[in-house]
Amino acid sequence: MAEQIPTIHTAEAEKDMILKAYRALLRALKPSLGKGDKKTIRQAFDMSMEAHKDMRRKTGEPYILHPLAVAQICAEEIGLGPLAIVCALLHDTVEDTHLTLEDIKSNFGEKAASIVDGLTKIAGVFDKGTSLQAENFRKMLLTLSDDVRVILIKLADRLHNMRTLDSMKRDKQLKIASETAYLYAPLAHRLGLYSIKTELEDLSMKYTEPEIYNDIYDKVQQTRKERNRFINEFSDPIKNELVKQDFKFDIKGRSKSIHSIWSKMKRQGVSFEEIYDLFAIRIIIDTDEENEKPMCWKAYSIITDFYHPNPDRLRDWISTPKANGYESLHTTVMGPNGKWVEVQIRSRRMDEIAEKGYAAHWKYKESSAESAIDEWIEKIRELLESPETNALDFIDDFKLNLFSDEIFVFTPGGDMKTLPSGATALDFAFEIHTDLGSKCIGAKVNHKLVPLSHKLRSGDQAEILTSNKQTPKEDWLSYVVTAKAKSKIKTALKEEKKNSVRTEKKF
Ligand code: MN
Repeated sequence: MAEQIPTIHTAEAEKDMILKAYRALLRALKPSLGKGDKKTIRQAFDMSMEAHKDMRRKTGEPYILHPLAVAQICAEEIGLGPLAIVCALLHDTVEDTHLTLEDIKSNFGEKAASIVDGLTKIAGVFDKGTSLQAENFRKMLLTLSDDVRVILIKLADRLHNMRTLDSMKRDKQLKIASETAYLYAPLAHRLGLYSIKTELEDLSMKYTEPEIYNDIYDKVQQTRKERNRFINEFSDPIKNELVKQDFKFDIKGRSKSIHSIWSKMKRQGVSFEEIYDLFAIRIIIDTDEENEKPMCWKAYSIITDFYHPNPDRLRDWISTPKANGYESLHTTVMGPNGKWVEVQIRSRRMDEIAEKGYAAHWKYKESSAESAIDEWIEKIRELLESPETNALDFIDDFKLNLFSDEIFVFTPGGDMKTLPSGATALDFAFEIHTDLGSKCIGAKVNHKLVPLSHKLRSGDQAEILTSNKQTPKEDWLSYVVTAKAKSKIKTALKEEKKNSVRTEKKF
């Protein structure tokens, strides 16, 4: 890919661009601006502009356009509020300019300073060798557990860098793009930032696999007309009936991303032409929160009056939301011409959470204390605090948890635990309590006796059987999949080894 030739603008034109970007930012923020916020944001903007005034990006543009773009993504695409915007505007100042954390603290307070500090610490972290990468990634997550805004701003920063990657040299492009696919896209996914995850994956693939990317892109374009015709033919009868029954709604055909088409081609060993679900139909219902669930099921009932559903493909993420907060009702029905069509039914609120993730969630629920994100951060923290996990193990374990699908398993008391698919009875035991895991000798799954290595399935109810004589065994590591179980077993085995060495010395 050729390097982009930097565009030169007159000073006047540049000033104009900057002001335009700043006004767009204020517009995006408008709903969340409280008293005095505008002034603080102006102050952060002025300070950042002054600090970066002699710097330019690789594209040739004035540097300030980058923090402005990052702030814009935070406000518009993640839905963050004024504090995060101030930090986004200043995110590169402590690292790259004369401004200090003290300056940030005295102007914008302790909280802003600690977020910018987190962002400074994780900046440029991935420039060294592999083990250092993993170690630093671990540090990055430790920082994130203090304030999740650090990671959200970091993701916005990465997204803007990916969008402007054309101006980098080929080797840099490759490095940044693979890092994005390896670390940032899964992180965005885990945080429920679906559109950002999808865009990061597509952008990354554009640089790492340019031929395949372009090929699929062209094919998607070429088949667009025909696809739209089919989508209309499919949706028209549903639309009419929903209108008749007084629904307020949007209905649209959503194309699969280039990256997910490619993943499916690889996974199933099929060609582009053989992929039947290039798109899904999405129905977004405007309704108040109490009525969301019945309204979604009512819409489901209307759809299945016209098209026959595949009973194996019904997914009810409304009764049981995914760990990243995703809520939606999915069904696959037999459409015209004998083609299966996936239909996603959700409320406007659910749609916003699905697209924008937790920040959107905060908008609806004032407190985030009980949200799954805290649970996730708690899990990461436990993992990080375990002294025996070495950095590379950690990143492998972490990746494992990021990429696998989830299953839901119930305790005898009816508590639900989320585990990665492939998790065994032993994983479940460790998930509940370390002691329960260490002393586990077996389990009863749906009242039937099973061994420790028994793989659990969604909806199972499991009771753990223990013995005080039991201790963690080496071979347990071959059938646990959760990072938590792995690290606890490794710690216990090391401990045991240390003790036996001591005993040998004594005699
Ligand atoms: Mn930056």
